[in-house]
Amino acid sequence: MDRGTINQRFWAKEPKETIEILQSSEKDGLSQDQAKERQLIFGPNILEKGKQLSKTEIFLNQLKSPLIFILIVSGGATAILKDYLDTLFILLAVLINSILGFYQENKAEETLEKLKTYIKENIRVLRDKKETEIDSQNIVPGEIIYLTAGKRVPADARLISANDLQIDESVLTGESLPQEKQTESLKIDIPLSERTNMVFGGTLVVEGAGKAIITATGKDSEFGKLASLVSEAKDTDTPLQKTIKRFSWTITGFLIVLILGIFWIGAVKGYSLFEMFLTSVAIAISSIPEGLPIAMTIILAVGVEQLAKKKGVVKKLIAAEALSATTTILTDKTGTLTQAKMTITGIWSLADLISKKLTAKTQALSRLSDEQKKIIKISLLNTDVLIVNPEEKPENWQIAGKALETSLVKQAGEWKILFGEEKNLHQPFTILPFNSKDKYSASIIKDSGGFHSLVGKRQKGNFLTIMGAPEILLSMAELSAEDYQAVLGKINQLARSGKRILAVGFKQLNQNLPTNKAEALKNLNQIEFLGIICFSDPLREDVLEAIEKVKQMGLKAVIVTGDHQGTAMAIAKELGFEIKENNVLDGSAISRLSDEELEKILPQIRVFARVTPEDKLRIINAYRKSREIIAMTGDGVNDAPALKQADVGIAVGSGTDVTKSVADLILLDDSFKTIVTAIEEGRKMLLNIKKVIVYLLSDSLEEVFLIGGSLLMSLPLPINALQILFVNFFADSFPALAFAFENGVDDHKKRIKQHQILDKEVKTLIFFIGASISLGLFLVYWWLLKTGVELSLVKTIVFITFSINSLIVAFSFRSLEKNIFHYNPFSNRYLNWGAGLGIVLTLSAVYLPPSQKVLETAPLPLIWLTAPFGFGLFSIFIIEAVKFLFAKKINVDKPKQTD
Ligand code: ADP
Ligand code: MG
Repeated sequence: MDRGTINQRFWAKEPKETIEILQSSEKDGLSQDQAKERQLIFGPNILEKGKQLSKTEIFLNQLKSPLIFILIVSGGATAILKDYLDTLFILLAVLINSILGFYQENKAEETLEKLKTYIKENIRVLRDKKETEIDSQNIVPGEIIYLTAGKRVPADARLISANDLQIDESVLTGESLPQEKQTESLKIDIPLSERTNMVFGGTLVVEGAGKAIITATGKDSEFGKLASLVSEAKDTDTPLQKTIKRFSWTITGFLIVLILGIFWIGAVKGYSLFEMFLTSVAIAISSIPEGLPIAMTIILAVGVEQLAKKKGVVKKLIAAEALSATTTILTDKTGTLTQAKMTITGIWSLADLISKKLTAKTQALSRLSDEQKKIIKISLLNTDVLIVNPEEKPENWQIAGKALETSLVKQAGEWKILFGEEKNLHQPFTILPFNSKDKYSASIIKDSGGFHSLVGKRQKGNFLTIMGAPEILLSMAELSAEDYQAVLGKINQLARSGKRILAVGFKQLNQNLPTNKAEALKNLNQIEFLGIICFSDPLREDVLEAIEKVKQMGLKAVIVTGDHQGTAMAIAKELGFEIKENNVLDGSAISRLSDEELEKILPQIRVFARVTPEDKLRIINAYRKSREIIAMTGDGVNDAPALKQADVGIAVGSGTDVTKSVADLILLDDSFKTIVTAIEEGRKMLLNIKKVIVYLLSDSLEEVFLIGGSLLMSLPLPINALQILFVNFFADSFPALAFAFENGVDDHKKRIKQHQILDKEVKTLIFFIGASISLGLFLVYWWLLKTGVELSLVKTIVFITFSINSLIVAFSFRSLEKNIFHYNPFSNRYLNWGAGLGIVLTLSAVYLPPSQKVLETAPLPLIWLTAPFGFGLFSIFIIEAVKFLFAKKINVDKPKQTD
């Protein structure tokens, strides 16, 4: 085996020949040893990252920001004026800023890369004569794989069999309609998009099933070749980041005007032109929130990493923003609200359902009647699972597959009805796998294993077996109107008690076997209804707590399920929803409503039952018109369109690769609680971003006011350009980063409107805090000058006060809503360290001789150190007052609530 073996045009060869060339076997698959050997030759099945920006390129990109431009120009100017110390200092600032920017860009990408590793994809293969499931990364050329709807094709493969197989190849060809696949050989010169007997790595199975042999993996696959040619499109900017960028440029424009103004005033009033130039630049630098994009990205990156540890994987940073704005959660029932550990509590034959009165007590299922055994056997023939360790006792089986089916197989095993035996005996062929639209599955059975005697037919023949939602099977059944009503009544009664119900039926076919789905569907009438299996599926343990939190957070939870209305309502009641009939809408009712009518009744609906994926899409679209921000869960292939439409599409971890590929958030543990946690984390991130914005911008405003004010009053400038740079890079930036780790002070009860991070609250806080603190500082300055303190000392006092003050007030900004006395200000240790470091650096700026020279500071007599700390306390008082007056009253944005 070498590269030559796999680089062939297998679409022009027969499957048999392909299998021979690739030294595999359709019946046995590869052996473990063969697979290991090939893994060494061809490597793991992973895509190498496309050509990416080199580190130098990323670094040089940092120089493109407006701030850096201004810095470099002023650095040049100082060099021309031979003020080399300033030049050096400015260049240092450029360097630090570029390093931070570089770190930021890297961090965002690394985080997203790391999150990808949380999401594993498995594929069913034939190895050592046995069907088993392996990590898609471990497949090798020659591997025999099984494809089913919802799977991502792991690598390129030649089809051996295909049953109604349809593949979405848009990632590769751009074609959005699914491609129908088949197994016949094709001409040798046919283009990629027409190779209908091949499947390609990275594409998605949207319907049907198939068996194929892997021809190329990893970078040898078509997708791999593509990926290494083009660099991955980089779109890490979230709407928020874009807003902030736009905002930075607006500020820059505004500043240019301001600077020209200040420069002009200064010139008129006779300040030195050079000093005016430097000061203007300093104001510019101080008012551009250069630390903001950096702090923001770090907050988002740290936030999504923390969320991943709590089992919620966000696929793009953008989702964090939508999460924080979410108003309504549309959630699945099974597996998300419930445990999906289903226990059979009853098996009722048709005769039971017609005649017997159902009592509340469950049946004794220790010994099954023949009728009950028959129902279970037929249900097994309609399941598609993989028992990983069939040699063990049934209670220890590990089973891969849909939750309902794995529960069924395990319990049947405990009753000694063995899945493997039944399948071997009757050799069912799944012609219609279960899907959430039709809500049933159907298989064909050629009667060679005595199926006719199992179902009590004298004549041999071919059969169709069906399993699915009871009303649907009932509507296909041949029953008198009276019996029909009786059975329906019992089903509804059982459902209302919270049971999940599955019905089983069959039909004897005439000679011709249906060969495809359409033909099979034509036969689905006049079936024999055998009976039902009832399951109980208890609530998840943590779900009540999560529902309580949903209420506290002002969110609304709505159940959207494919299950029976009665079952869904019973679960809703267990969750504590107060619901009446008019709070529930089922699929048939939805289809009778127009879009407008649906939109109108949405606010009162808490449970949507028996919905199809199309219904889900309509529901989402109706919600979108009503100003709600929707997070919606999904698991099946057909849920993908609805998930795309939702503001936050959520895939459950046990769901299909297809839903995961379109989701914004993936719940590794399937749990509803994780959705709530994710929304909470989203709010936390945005709230922290708000804090940073208020913190940095109010500080900038102070600098502008302080310098502008001094110029207007014809006073000497209180702080110089390098001092401003110092504060921005060596003091402010530490607390700003520490806000990324802010946790536990706020309660996250308020949602944050989308795209409105710079809302009225934020602007008001910035303005009032900036104005009042700069006024205070200005008064101190003015008073010191008036009392005749030496100028160099005054300037140093203003500098140190300004710097240390901005470190102290950070503790007040830990919450924009809560009063500092209502939380422990020192519980964020990153902030403690950051502020501490800033204070040490500021003190050394004042007391270390070299920095005294650069920053033009004078060593302060120790008694003066009371000034910065005293002023800091004063500022905290001001900020708390502003918070008290404004923060709570603005931006209270409650979603409409029905209960
Ligand atoms: P849910 O919203 O609870 O996930 P589903 O779409 O999974 O609902 O199930 C809808 C109905 O389809 C169930 O009430 C059940 O009767 C039937 N059903 C569920 N799973 C299967 C299956 N694997 N095979 C056949 N029928 C099923
Ligand atoms: Mg389901």
